[in-house]
Amino acid sequence: MRPSYLEWALVVWFGAGAALVQAAESQWAGDRMATSQGDLVVYPIHHATLVLQWAGKAVYVDPVGGAKRLAGLPKPDVVLVTHIHGDHFDAATLEELVSGGGHVRLVVPRAVAEKLPKGPLAESVTVATEGKKIEIGGMAIEAVPAYNITPQRQKFHPKGRGVGYLLRLGGKTVYIAGDTEGTPEMGKLTGVDVAFLPMNLPYTMSVEQAARAIREFKPKIVYPYHFRNSDGTMADLEKLQRLVGAESGIEIRVRPWYPREGSNRQ
Ligand SMILES: [Zn+2]
Repeated sequence: MRPSYLEWALVVWFGAGAALVQAAESQWAGDRMATSQGDLVVYPIHHATLVLQWAGKAVYVDPVGGAKRLAGLPKPDVVLVTHIHGDHFDAATLEELVSGGGHVRLVVPRAVAEKLPKGPLAESVTVATEGKKIEIGGMAIEAVPAYNITPQRQKFHPKGRGVGYLLRLGGKTVYIAGDTEGTPEMGKLTGVDVAFLPMNLPYTMSVEQAARAIREFKPKIVYPYHFRNSDGTMADLEKLQRLVGAESGIEIRVRPWYPREGSNRQ
């Protein structure tokens, strides 16, 4: 039977609707990679903020600047905070995100937990300490050290206060470094598929240090993030790519983390 004009009209109507939905989603162009349980989708958001989506769960990392900035993304199931600085930890944004769902798990280091206001945030928190494995929704979350090793920078991120996170999901390992330099602990990481590494001065590390660390622990894919220096310039990511070298087989994945200026730089 041939479709009637009405049926054709419906096909065109729904087709146009689907195109519109796609256009709306494309504001957040995520990167996809296969895992044993469906795709992991990576959404670079801004500076240190990123969102991961996997197996029906959304993980927000260091969300700041208001929940509005994350509108259009899947609602969070897990929120990870790396440390106390304002470009990573923003209680007002966390309150908006946590009160939205009622089921959101907040994972933070002790120094952040101590700064949480009483109420929903304090009630949904799990304190991440080094070596403790936290299981949420089929994902294993582990805090790892993040700190400055250069003496004149240790005041920014003293050892033991902030953390990075290792996430194991669907056979893949994702490393979110937090604010750190290339520490001995980072150098010993193995089997990292995706690494988010900061490189800004004076707060974290230079591209030379980042390249050395990358060549040491050999992640498959590196997202440079948190790469705006305190003077407003950006770290030289082309230099990073040169220093890591194509022969390493490591992909340096450059994404637009700074489409507009924010205010926090630490
Ligand atoms: Zn920072």
